Amino acid sequence: MENQQKKILLVEDEKSISDILAFNLRKAGFTPDCAYDGEEGLRKALTVTYDIVLLDIMLPKLDGFKVLEGIRTRSDVPVIMVTARDDEKDKIAGLENGADDYITKPFSVNELIARIRANIRRSRDEIIQTAAAEGGEVLTVRGLSIDRGRYVARRDGEELELSKKEYDLLLFLMENVGKPFSREDLLSKVWGYDSFLGDVNTVEVTVSRLRKKLEKDPSNPEYLITKRGVGYYIQ
Ligand code: CA
Repeated sequence: MENQQKKILLVEDEKSISDILAFNLRKAGFTPDCAYDGEEGLRKALTVTYDIVLLDIMLPKLDGFKVLEGIRTRSDVPVIMVTARDDEKDKIAGLENGADDYITKPFSVNELIARIRANIRRSRDEIIQTAAAEGGEVLTVRGLSIDRGRYVARRDGEELELSKKEYDLLLFLMENVGKPFSREDLLSKVWGYDSFLGDVNTVEVTVSRLRKKLEKDPSNPEYLITKRGVGYYIQ
C-alpha cells in the first residue's frame, strides 16, 4: 500500500525489458512511467515529479550520463543508473555525476525493488523533513560543521559542495564521532542496503570523493580517518 503513490520514471530503450520492468513494478505497487530514449527521459524527468528515476546508460539520442547531468541541473530526485556490464568506470562516472546508486544488468526484479525502496527511503526530501523534525541541530568537530536542518556542511566557515550521499555519509559519521564503521556497516546504515545487495566499492568511492572536498590533503586526512582493518570514522 505504501508504494501506491510512488512514481517511477523508467528510461529504457529496449521495449521488452521496459515492459517486463513496468509490469513487475506495477505488481509491486509502484506507478511506472516509461520513456524510450534519452531526450524523452530528460523531458519527463524535468516536467513531471517522480519519486525515483531508473536510468539506462546506453540510450538513443542522449546517453544516460547526459540525461543525469540534465536532471541534476534542476532536480535532486534519486537516480539509479542501469549499467549493461559490471564496468567500474561506468559506476564511478555515474556516482560522480550525481547518481544515487547503480545496478548491473542482468539483475533480479527483487533486487531492483529492494534498491528502489532503499533509495526512496533515503531521499533527500525525507532526510530534510526528518532533520527539521529533529530541530535542525548543528554538529561540530573542530572546523567542520554540519547543519541537519538546513542540509549544509561547512569547513572553516566555507560551504562544502556535497552530493546527497556524501552529505548522508558525513552526517552519519559526525553523529557517531570517534566510532569506526566497516564498509558493510556504512552500506547498511547510510545507503539502507542489506549486505547481500551491497557493493562496498560504493562506500569507497564516496569516502574518497568526500575526502577530496573535506580534507586539505586527502592523502593525509585530518577528519575522515581509515582505521586499518576496521573501517572509517570522523575524529
Ligand atoms: Ca539501452
